[in-house]
Amino acid sequence: MAFPWQNLFYVLAAACNREEHTMNEHEHFMQIALEQAEDALAHGEFPVGSVIVHEGRVVASGQRRHTLEQKESVNEIDHAEVLALRSLLARETAVDPSELVVYATMEPCLMCFSTLILNGIRRIVYAYEDVMGGGTNLPLAQLNPLYAKMEVTVIPHVMRQQSLGLFQRFFANPENQYWKDSLLANYTLNQ
Ligand SMILES: [Zn+2]
Repeated sequence: MAFPWQNLFYVLAAACNREEHTMNEHEHFMQIALEQAEDALAHGEFPVGSVIVHEGRVVASGQRRHTLEQKESVNEIDHAEVLALRSLLARETAVDPSELVVYATMEPCLMCFSTLILNGIRRIVYAYEDVMGGGTNLPLAQLNPLYAKMEVTVIPHVMRQQSLGLFQRFFANPENQYWKDSLLANYTLNQ
């Protein structure tokens, strides 16, 4: 029978290795989400990208749409995470949502956070914090029973600097009207 402390050592060593592996994996998938955000920016859209990962494989992706028409109307539905989830639901039917990890280049807003957790997703990784509209600090324990028992893991600031760079490019362009002169725009440009 092994000495208990020895077992503890092995458990801790395994946990450390796993954490290191996970961080590299997070960066790998965030890079793919950042490419979605870059593509959105190239089309004049707000630079948010998202990918959904299952067992080490990207199973869906999305990027922010319809911010260009912001002058005429407001579209706060076609967010990157919602479009990625729609794309996943259209294709994959047999995936356990608790096994999915959602990567987003900006902290999910209240709508996206709620939509993801209501669809069974429990792990969310994001790059740049949304100091104006981020919704991941929703106090689930204070809500009704369906939400109160949800255990959601949110990992912030994976490749934050790369994502910040895209938002700085977006807000520095005077042509872009979406959230122009907002708290988020000022916060982003003043760093
Ligand atoms: Zn959103």
